[in-house]
Amino acid sequence: MSALSVPPADLAVDVVPLGGLGEFGLNMMAVSCGETTILIDAGSMFPEAELPGVDRVIPSSEYLDQRGPVDALVLTHGHEDHIGGVPYVVGRVAGPVFGTPFTHAMLEGKLDEHGVDLGERRREVRPGDVVTVGPFRIEFIRVTHSMPDCVAVAIHTPQGVIVHTGDFKIDYTPLSGDAVTDLSTIAEYGRRGVLALLADSTNAERPGFTATEQTVAEGVRSLFARAKNRRIIVATFASNIYRIQQIIDLAIEYGRKVAVNGRSMVSNTEMARELGYLHAPDNVLIDIEEINKYPPEKVVLITTGSQGEPLSALSRMAQASHRTVKVGPTDFIIISARPIPGNEKTVTKVVNGLLALGAEVIYENMYDTHVSGHACQEEQKLMLTLAHPQYFLPVHGEFKQLKRHAETAEHLGYIPKQNIYIAENGQNIRLSRDGMAVEGTVPAGAVMVDGYGVGDVGNVVLRDRHHLSEDGIIIVTAAVDGSTGQLLSGPDLVSRGFVYVRESEELMDGARVQVEMALDRSMADNMHDWASVKSRVREALSSYIYRKTKRSPMILPILMEV
Ligand SMILES: [Zn+2]
Ligand SMILES: [Zn+2]
Repeated sequence: MSALSVPPADLAVDVVPLGGLGEFGLNMMAVSCGETTILIDAGSMFPEAELPGVDRVIPSSEYLDQRGPVDALVLTHGHEDHIGGVPYVVGRVAGPVFGTPFTHAMLEGKLDEHGVDLGERRREVRPGDVVTVGPFRIEFIRVTHSMPDCVAVAIHTPQGVIVHTGDFKIDYTPLSGDAVTDLSTIAEYGRRGVLALLADSTNAERPGFTATEQTVAEGVRSLFARAKNRRIIVATFASNIYRIQQIIDLAIEYGRKVAVNGRSMVSNTEMARELGYLHAPDNVLIDIEEINKYPPEKVVLITTGSQGEPLSALSRMAQASHRTVKVGPTDFIIISARPIPGNEKTVTKVVNGLLALGAEVIYENMYDTHVSGHACQEEQKLMLTLAHPQYFLPVHGEFKQLKRHAETAEHLGYIPKQNIYIAENGQNIRLSRDGMAVEGTVPAGAVMVDGYGVGDVGNVVLRDRHHLSEDGIIIVTAAVDGSTGQLLSGPDLVSRGFVYVRESEELMDGARVQVEMALDRSMADNMHDWASVKSRVREALSSYIYRKTKRSPMILPILMEV
């Protein structure tokens, strides 16, 4: 990378990715110039199985705390990986929160849960709008994605224009005609000169174009015909209003009523109808409680659970534990979503459950029931070519997607290799007309949220949770004479997740003897330091248990001095 003549710090523009590079989710990026800092998106991520008990993961705000109040938060769209962290970050935002009406509507529910009201800071913007924050002028540019009202941003800085695509794809025939990515505006920026392009890398490994949403319409239409006189159940993302609209339109065509199920599905469809993003006549929608009043061929049920989420409506149907929906041979079920990497097993489990109940299930690649919301290689090339940036930073993806996106840019030939950079979270990337350089790093990383606790679950707690989940725990309690160390009562052993105690009496009796012996030895050695006594108990018990079972449960001795 070139580090030619870097301008003085007060003129330079610093781009600092705080999340979303080298990982999916947690998208957050700070852009600063002089005293002004704006944030692009503040996403979250659902934890992987390796993080037991963690509810969600958000980007660290440490850097923001160091820099002082953020002057504006700019939201590209309403997906979790772009707005899920807002409730945790918004306290550091002194200025406006810019988002389109749909993005704000998606955000509102989240903020309500946290008792946050944006008040004056809530600023609705529409594609084409331009806002000013300090030295920045920000234009919002329409992009197509898998939800309504998504935008890219062009940030005019003293060094030039930075274009951040947000999540995008190029679909000339999306379901909503006004949602075509505004290529002419991007081309216009490209013609006048773009300093840097930051673009969505999600599908950087996929050649070709992402298929148009119309292919889904055709695929789903043929499935409606095939369902014949069966009840149709469609599972999809609650935020994919376009897909929901398609299903409602087909239901009307086939003379079926529509019920929606699942908390987020119900709230999103209500919100989208109120705001005019979703069109469904009142006489088509019925309450979930009413569906059993209609014959199967007169009903379509749209539900959450396309990712096999264990508590979702579709999961409960698959386990035959849904309150109103009993799945059977008269059901035709369409899962209109691809499993997000990591969710394949839970989706398979749901599919197995539904099949076992006698339903026909259409999933994954059996039909064109889903298209991605992200650009593939040819669309990425088009974006790069139109924007024609001086510098290119692939964003939004794991390292392998970022790398492929960088290669795609390189193959186009007009961006010098040294002007393409795969950044890491926390790198302070200083941009100017004359150069791009990494100017140090700032604190960045993932923070775990568990219940009300933000950041209090760290590596030590996680290690304990892993240990507990793998081998269980034995708690030893005993009352001991404080002056002599004489055992007064106990020891009592309680275990959880280790062995079923009632079937292991011999083992537990032996364990008790080990504890007694360890206490006796401590007394004989005149050991009065309780921490040492405890660790002697722990060691004795641990080696006994390991000898007998080849397991290493967590051992927690509690000695009460009397
Ligand atoms: Zn998105
Ligand atoms: Zn995204």
